Amino acid sequence: MNSLENKVALVTGGSRGIGRAIVLALADQGADIAFTYRSATGAAEEVKQAVEAKGRRVLAIQSDAKLQEEAAGVVDAVLNAFKSIHILVNNAGITKDSLLMRMSPEDWDEVITTNLKSAFNFSKAVCRPMMGQREGKIINITSIAGVVGNPGQANYSAAKAGMIGLTKSLAKELASRNIQVNAVAPGFVDTDMTEKLTPQQKEAILGIVPMKRTAKPEEIASVVLFLASPAASYMTGQVLCVDGGLVM
Ligand code: NAP
Repeated sequence: MNSLENKVALVTGGSRGIGRAIVLALADQGADIAFTYRSATGAAEEVKQAVEAKGRRVLAIQSDAKLQEEAAGVVDAVLNAFKSIHILVNNAGITKDSLLMRMSPEDWDEVITTNLKSAFNFSKAVCRPMMGQREGKIINITSIAGVVGNPGQANYSAAKAGMIGLTKSLAKELASRNIQVNAVAPGFVDTDMTEKLTPQQKEAILGIVPMKRTAKPEEIASVVLFLASPAASYMTGQVLCVDGGLVM
């Protein structure tokens, strides 16, 4: 039997990149899927059809993860359609890089709210149903930038470090309710987010990755799948770096 048969998963930012790979990996293991996206309607439709082709139920919801009332509405819609939510993956994220001296307050706020506040919004919204079920897995997609920092990414690193604090605090708050909260910290992954880097930046990155390559989104999704599965039943509050050995 697939390990996630009869489970319902909600993934934020599931239309592209790592979120898309997570959606497909969870569906492969038998989960019904709800995912959100911000604006890429065509990409979201393609992911929706791919999940349906696997024989799973799927909801694709256009919603800005920054907005708390929208997160509550998304969770209500998932509960109306599927009656429960067992897995939440807080994946939606953006970068707006610049050195601190040039960073605008708007770019600071946009990155903090999209990456960090969104995780608060959705975790809060799923908390009650998961407590009622006495079962839940919350998986936060942070970054090695939140573990070791990165010049030019003060906003992003602060948001991702915040997600690590959120992960550990929620893990302690919710452990007795059989809700596990863990984080995955990818290194450099081939997605639209890293497509923006200059060839020089990409070469510099490969220079510091012991495995001398970037990751495919599926290599992040497989670790999320592990945390969502019964194989990780005694893990909570952990941050798994999936980074080709960059942070060790
Ligand atoms: P991506 O390819 O740019 O995809 C981002 C996804 O998030 C898209 O589905 C996008 O929706 C969605 N999204 C962005 N802002 C949103 C908002 N306000 N509300 C709802 N959805 C929103 O990025 P990625 O590389 O896959 O990154 C996914 C996660 O992994 C992020 O949290 C990122 O910080 C983290 N991460 C990435 C890397 C990397 O190297 N790529 C490394 C470490 C951590 P639309 O398609 O509609 O725009």
